[in-house]
Amino acid sequence: MRVTRRDFLKLSGVTAASAALSQLGFAAPAVAKVRDFKIREAKVSPTICPYCGVGCGQLVYVRDGKVVQLEGDPDNPQNQGSLCSKGAALSQVFDNPRRVTKVLYRAPGASAWEEKDWEWALERIAENVKKTRDASFIETQPDEKDPAKSYIANRTEAIASLGGASLDNEECYLLTKMNRALGIVYLEHQARI
Ligand code: SF4
Repeated sequence: MRVTRRDFLKLSGVTAASAALSQLGFAAPAVAKVRDFKIREAKVSPTICPYCGVGCGQLVYVRDGKVVQLEGDPDNPQNQGSLCSKGAALSQVFDNPRRVTKVLYRAPGASAWEEKDWEWALERIAENVKKTRDASFIETQPDEKDPAKSYIANRTEAIASLGGASLDNEECYLLTKMNRALGIVYLEHQARI
């Protein structure tokens, strides 16, 4: 269909008029009814969008184990109820047949993934962190200005930590504390990559 400049301007006028009417409250009762119907008997949980560093607050409504509604949290000072299109599509994270829900491990050189339990995975992560840290730990470092001197470094450059946008303040605090205690200096966050 060919849209002339005149058609486009007419359409813009209609759209603006509809938006104005909706702002005046003509469409609001119908919209509110649909929303009320959707969230009836659903349990609501506040959460943080995991997708980017803005950290928008969301309200997730769950009924019978299924997400029935997801919206911006109006009480969250970050987004005040709004969401971008990506955040608004977050329910795809829950309702997704491709979502990985178990620990999968692929041994070095292997071509197939094996299912493992969390206990095994956490043990293995701890073992690898300890082994790598012990092998790479730098206790002292020569002073660049005066090579005859050295200073205490206490760090490892062989481990990096990547935080996620769904971590809250307290989790970030604990993660950073643990990383610093281990001597990890490469701390990053998914939103900066
Ligand atoms: S992806 Fe969108 S909704 Fe999610 S935190 Fe970022 S800006 Fe907010």
